[in-house]
Amino acid sequence: MKAETTQLNFVDSLIDEAYDIRLSKPKRFSEIVKLLTSQPELTSTQVNKVKLLSAFQKTYAGNFQESETILDNLLTQNEIESSTKIQSQYLMLYNMTAVKNWSKGFTFTKDLMDAELIKNGHALAANALIATITFLNQFGQHELALTQLNKLKELNLSPYNLCGSKQQAILSKKKLARFTVASIEIDDAIKECTKAKAPLVVNILRTYKADLYLQNNTPEKVITLFLPLLEDIKNIQYPMLTSEIYNYISKAYLTLDKVQHAEKYALLSLEQQNRQIIEQAKDSFYLLYQTSKRQKKYDLALQYYEQFANAEKAYLDEVLAKAIAFQLAEYKASQQKNEIELLNNQNELLNNKNRLLSIKQSLAKAQAENTQLVLTLLVAIIALLTFFGYRSWRTQRRLKALAEFDYLTEVYNRGHFMTLASEAIKLATKAKQTVTCIIFDLDKFKKINDKYGHLAGDVALKAAANAAQSCVRGNDIFARLGGEEFVILLPGCDTNAATYVTEKCMRAFEDIDTSESGHDFKVTASFGITTSKISGMALDNLIADADKALYQAKDNGRNQYQIYEP
Ligand code: GH3
Ligand code: MG
Ligand code: MG
Repeated sequence: MKAETTQLNFVDSLIDEAYDIRLSKPKRFSEIVKLLTSQPELTSTQVNKVKLLSAFQKTYAGNFQESETILDNLLTQNEIESSTKIQSQYLMLYNMTAVKNWSKGFTFTKDLMDAELIKNGHALAANALIATITFLNQFGQHELALTQLNKLKELNLSPYNLCGSKQQAILSKKKLARFTVASIEIDDAIKECTKAKAPLVVNILRTYKADLYLQNNTPEKVITLFLPLLEDIKNIQYPMLTSEIYNYISKAYLTLDKVQHAEKYALLSLEQQNRQIIEQAKDSFYLLYQTSKRQKKYDLALQYYEQFANAEKAYLDEVLAKAIAFQLAEYKASQQKNEIELLNNQNELLNNKNRLLSIKQSLAKAQAENTQLVLTLLVAIIALLTFFGYRSWRTQRRLKALAEFDYLTEVYNRGHFMTLASEAIKLATKAKQTVTCIIFDLDKFKKINDKYGHLAGDVALKAAANAAQSCVRGNDIFARLGGEEFVILLPGCDTNAATYVTEKCMRAFEDIDTSESGHDFKVTASFGITTSKISGMALDNLIADADKALYQAKDNGRNQYQIYEP
């Protein structure tokens, strides 16, 4: 009998010790759990407690499903001790958050929010409430979280719980548009959490400060806040936090236009992540998209934007999944209630009708909220499409330019000239206007190429095109016909006007400076002019006659113009 009692005390003290050190001394914790699971003849209370401890162990190792199985089994037992039950429930909440099984998690909050726990002053009432509040905030139910936070006011909180409640209160308010969070409120929470030795929460609170700094346009404060703390933050070994803090530093650098620093920290942030941290990944990709764009690395920017869009979509899907889980849980709850009442009292039919009405209303509300989410999703998709649209517009524009302009001289090419000139002649015909056509060809251009090289020839060609372009008016259509031959169509002009333009061109050619090519030489051209009064309104004839006049000018000794005479 005595030996048995000692054995009992030994086991109980091991259980207590394991529970106390479960977070701070992981190695010793595993040893005790191993020892306890191999103990024969435990009482059923002890068996349950040991099961709970191994569930904790599974959760800490990231085996959420195994932990869930143990807890499912534990919670179906009738004679489970109340604190073991509460602890199992809030560990379950943690698991459900980790695997994003929101609807199952939500069912546990109902028990944990139980008013009886608080009224009876249960030792774990505050823990249960804070676990619930944390879950609700993760679940996106910030209003509900705030309601629960009010209940905490009636309780005496341990330093750790006080810290947790302050952080969760700030988080709920941050997420709800009708509150603004003051800097001193965050400072106060940081003080409490430092006292409670909760470095993880302290640093989460610091990210709230960072938000304020960015909002107040003091990004340099974000950098001076976090840079000296980076080692400590990494030591907490909570990748989600580390990743988020790198993103804050990156954002701050980007605001300060230190693009390379911003890029570095966004990449560090990505390094911390696995697929589950999509909220941070989304921010990192967006930052990298911005840094690449500012560095004019457009291909990279596009890649990051696509990754951002994927992460954003995954994020919105998750938000949507949460909202649906919540509506479904609420709906199921009301439906259950209805069924029970229908069975209990048929006379309450009227009441139930009202309830059904309220379900309908809440469904309608759910639908409205979901519509909102779908809209947000649509906005994201539209942004993506706009981006791709812009890219394809740019490509189109490039293709159009290739199709219309001569690549060397950047004036219209022959093909586009034919289109534009035909249109102009049609209009002139309707308006009974004269058009004139000038064709010019550079003189002895082969010689220029031979003597100074093809590149120098190109420089001269470009210079000549520029010079001629500066002599034509807005209505005139100027193009390179090919080689070193150019054409100008002048709608609404007679030969006098054309002669004037030609002389202006000849003077402009005199001023051409070819020193850019490394050689100084003169560029001249011979011009042929004709008018629709002589050649008619057909474009081909205008060109052919102007060409004939041009060769006349060449024959006459070059560097001159000739008006066509049939
Ligand atoms: P003319 O006064 O009789 O016109 O003498 P020309 O030497 O200009 O004779 P022609 O028109 O037969 O020669 C044109 C030369 O222009 C031939 C070709 O090598 C050169 N050419 C044509 N296109 C280009 C070009 O894009 N760049 C350069 N550098 N040269 C070109
Ligand atoms: Mg020539
Ligand atoms: Mg020629």
